[in-house]
Formats: sequence, C-alpha cells, structure tokens
Amino acid sequence: MNFENTLAFAKTLDQQDDLRDLRNEFLFPEQDGKRFKYLCGNSLGLQPIATRKLVEQQMSNWERLAVEGWFEGEAAWLAYHKQLKILMAPIVGAKVSEVCPMNTLTVNLHLLMVSFYRPTAKRFKIIMEAGAFPSDQYAIESQLRFHGFDPATAIIEVQPRNGEYILRTEDIMLAIDEHASELALVLFGGINYFTGQWYDMEKITTAGHDAGAIVGFDLAHAAGNVPMKLHDWNVDFACWCSYKYQNGGPGGIAGIFVHESHFVDSTRPRFAGWWGYPEDKRFEMTKGFIPEAGADGWQISTGQIIPMSMYLASLQVFEKAGFMDPLRNKSLKLTSYLYFLIQQVNAALGTKQFTIITPENAEARGAQLSIVARSKAREIFDALVKEHVLGDWRSPNVIRLSPVPLYNTFEELYQTAEILLRVTSALLQ
Ligand SMILES: *Cc1c(COP(=O)(O)O)cnc(C)c1O
Repeated sequence: MNFENTLAFAKTLDQQDDLRDLRNEFLFPEQDGKRFKYLCGNSLGLQPIATRKLVEQQMSNWERLAVEGWFEGEAAWLAYHKQLKILMAPIVGAKVSEVCPMNTLTVNLHLLMVSFYRPTAKRFKIIMEAGAFPSDQYAIESQLRFHGFDPATAIIEVQPRNGEYILRTEDIMLAIDEHASELALVLFGGINYFTGQWYDMEKITTAGHDAGAIVGFDLAHAAGNVPMKLHDWNVDFACWCSYKYQNGGPGGIAGIFVHESHFVDSTRPRFAGWWGYPEDKRFEMTKGFIPEAGADGWQISTGQIIPMSMYLASLQVFEKAGFMDPLRNKSLKLTSYLYFLIQQVNAALGTKQFTIITPENAEARGAQLSIVARSKAREIFDALVKEHVLGDWRSPNVIRLSPVPLYNTFEELYQTAEILLRVTSALLQ
C-alpha cells in the first residue's frame, strides 16, 4: 500500500476501517481535558466500558445471593470460567478444553513448568531468547535451581547476531539442534517485549519436538495481538496475562493453554488444589486428588470471579471484532503506517534520529514498534507525554509505540508523528 503523510489520507484510512466503531467500547485517559493518544496497550490495555457493568453484576450477585452465588443465577460462579474459555480459545487458536483462566502469568509459568519441565541427568537444558522479560528469567532460573541445576550451564540463551536486534529463526534452529541431546524444554516468548519481534512459533515448536523436547510459550505480548494456532502447531503449553492486549485490567486474571495430547498422561506431575478436582464432585470433599479433564485440571484455588468478570467484558469486545483475523488485518496496516510516518519524521529532520528495531517485515511483528532515539531520547519521550501521546519508555533510549486495532486510529498515528517531529526538532536545536 502507498501511504501518504497527510491528515486527509489518515482520515480516509479510518473511514475505510470496518472496526472503527469498536473504539467507542473503551474509556480513554485524559489530562487537562484532553484525551491521550494511547499507544501503550502493550503494557496496560484500556478499560472497556462494559467492564464496570460486568463487575457490578457480580457485586450485586454477591450482595443478593452470598454463598448461593456459586450455584445460582444464570452465570453461577462455579461455572463462570466456562464462558471465558469459549472466548479465549479463538484468541490463541485452541480448543475450548485446552484453555482456562486462572491465577496470574508468572504463577502459571511456574505451575506449567512443574508439569512440563521434567529434567533428567541427561536432558535438563532449557533454550530461551536472550533478553527475555525479567520475570521469565527469574522463573526459569529458580525452577532450574529447584531441580538442582546451575542456570549458568543449563540455560541456553539465543542471541541476535552482533549489531543486530532481531533474532534469526535459523539461529534458533541451530541452537536447538546443537543442544538436542540435552534439551528438556524450549521456552520462548511469542513476541519479544523489547523489540516487538514475533518469533516463528510453528517452526520453533517443530524443531523443539524433533529434538525430543517440550515446547512452551509465554504469550504475554502475543495473546490478543496476533493470530495463533496453538493447537494446530502442537505447542505443548502456553500462558499469558490478560492486562496487556486483552484489556483485562491491572493484575487481571491470566490464562493457560495445555495441548490436548497431554490430557491422557496422568503421570505428568502437577501442583494440585481442590479447584482442579472434577467440578461435579468437588464439594464431596473426597480424599485423593483426581484432575478435572483438560486445562481446567491445572486450577488450584477458588475461581476469581471479579477478575474473571473483567476479562470477560474485554473478551466480548474481541468477539464483536470477529476475533483475531480482522484485528490482525487492521494491525498490519496500523504498524505499517506508523513505520512509514517515522521514516518521514527522519526525512524531515534530515538525520537518522530514529531507528526502528522491530522487524521491518510486518509479518514478523505484532502491534508494537520499538524506536531507538539517537539523542535526547528521554526528553523526547517526556515531551510526547506532555503533548498527550502516551507510549512507553525502556531505558536507555527506546520508545515503544503500540497502536492497538481495537481502539487506535490512523489519525492518531498521523498526529503522533506530527508531534514527534515538532518536539524533536525543538529539542535538537
Ligand atoms: C508482562 C510480562 C510478564 C508479567 O508477568 P506477571 O506475572 O503478570 O507480573 C511476564 N512475562 C512477560 C514476557 C511479560 O511480557
């Protein structure tokens, strides 16, 4: 597509956008009576208008029914998660039985590693991306130590080549191949939080399996952002938070995926709790744990109804959008337009002030562009916020801007680039 750096062109793109009305389903932060151009959905998604209503419904159920709320009403709490499962499945490309809302992300990562990281003296290594989100690094290191291994030798981090930001798929394949005989687990992000690179999850999964390893993904930056086929790709397990692209609210309830091929294996260990016990017999309080069928069998504690109601409100907006394919179509256009506009800013400045480290190939990224500012990075970021452009900041010099197809417009991107040019010109004088 040939883009133009004009307001009229941006407005035309908005008029042609079938999803443009979804923006009205969200609440936008404001300051001094002015709405932010909110480009930070990679960090905390906006609040859907329906969220308050769904939360209030449950507050009211609690008020009216108290303990009977577990069994009464159209959405009895005991089965409340089932409505979410139906809507979560198409977001990650899973069967309904393979997903479940529970806990929070890093907690789930630990619980899934309990089941899926089963090291032996010979096979104990974990391959991951270098520079993974710190929580994942800490979780993986602590799991290794828990099993008596030294993270320094048991973790294989795949790095981008010298002078590059993007990890080459061939280098991931090589690392898997090289360590195949000692490899227990391949554990990658779906999309890297820093660069915005979307890894070739299908290839990584196949290569991991060919090496005889288990393959899992942390989808914090991928779930609700890009379309995936976790079931068809044969991913063993995955987990994600709901508060980034899925607008589930700060610290909201997270999700897990376990491939159905693992449902039959009752020898795989898990940390059990009563909420993972079969639903129809849970209140018989019998001795001896038996897991509920499917991903639900990994639940431990009482269902978190209020956080689930918040996630549900947002999942219903995804349903209105037609789930991931229409959103991805718009997202590709949004990031491509922003990519073009940033280049125009460079051209107008007459310098290479901004370098986009996210893959130029739109298919290899999600909704986020990570932009390195050569000088005055922090000052530029602060000036953007003053002008009501809210992206997010990564030290020492990266500004991440994430246009979200559910609620961002092409016009906002045009205006963002205009403001970026203006504040940068002033600061570089
Ligand atoms: C956001 C994010 C987290 C945060 O984990 P919480 O347990 O929700 O705090 C973890 N890992 C990755 C890759 C993330 O992007």
